[in-house]
Amino acid sequence: MADRGFCQWALLKWNVILGCLAASNGCTRCWAALESHRHQCSGSTIHNGLTKWSEKGNMGWTFTGKAVFREDMLNRPKLHKSPLTIWIGPASDLFYKEFTLDQIAQVYAVVAECPQHDFFVLTKRVKRQLQLYTDGSLKTAVEEKLGRSIAWPLRNVRDGISIEDNKMVKQRMEHFMELPSHFKFLSAQPVLEELELGSYLAEDKRIKWALIGNEAGPLARKTDPRDIIGVKKQLDEARIGNMTMCYPL
Ligand code: SF4
Repeated sequence: MADRGFCQWALLKWNVILGCLAASNGCTRCWAALESHRHQCSGSTIHNGLTKWSEKGNMGWTFTGKAVFREDMLNRPKLHKSPLTIWIGPASDLFYKEFTLDQIAQVYAVVAECPQHDFFVLTKRVKRQLQLYTDGSLKTAVEEKLGRSIAWPLRNVRDGISIEDNKMVKQRMEHFMELPSHFKFLSAQPVLEELELGSYLAEDKRIKWALIGNEAGPLARKTDPRDIIGVKKQLDEARIGNMTMCYPL
């Protein structure tokens, strides 16, 4: 999932998946689509067909819906013995429907084999994530790949959702609250209106970190600073001490 501020923050971007499709209003200026287009222009054939120019409403580069699972990148985290903060799929969304249960399980099997690292997963498709986390299918598929049983959910996974307006807060937070993660975080970038998070933050104490900020680039939509301040106030009231404010240009 491609929130720009988060991308700058992670220490290792694990590009095991590429490509996506817009899921909501927050995707309009998808930073990952622009990056994918740049890679294609630089001669990277693996990025062919991932993006197209859109003349609709908000002109710009957008994803076509094509998804690529990169087996050549699968074991990348295992190369690092020292602990790292790793973002899974910064140029995509792991729970996009084009990624199969088997592919997602391959990713989580590597995560299970690398307890020295913290892995961040950011999605706009938390409904599918919740289903896979709770119906036993993902755990079973990971165990089959590892050949052993595991404690679920994995302790070294940080689960986050991206929220941009109150419609998405309502739609995604209800599923997010049910997610049985050990550590959760929120990414509100861009903030398109003052988000009403208060009751959710009070209820779910596993939400321990948040990233809030605006959109970047020449065609970026404006963020009202009062909305950012409003969100920050709610996070402060919920005593979410770990908060990153992000204002890319
Ligand atoms: S879900 Fe994330 S990666 Fe996919 S189009 Fe939207 S912003 Fe881009």
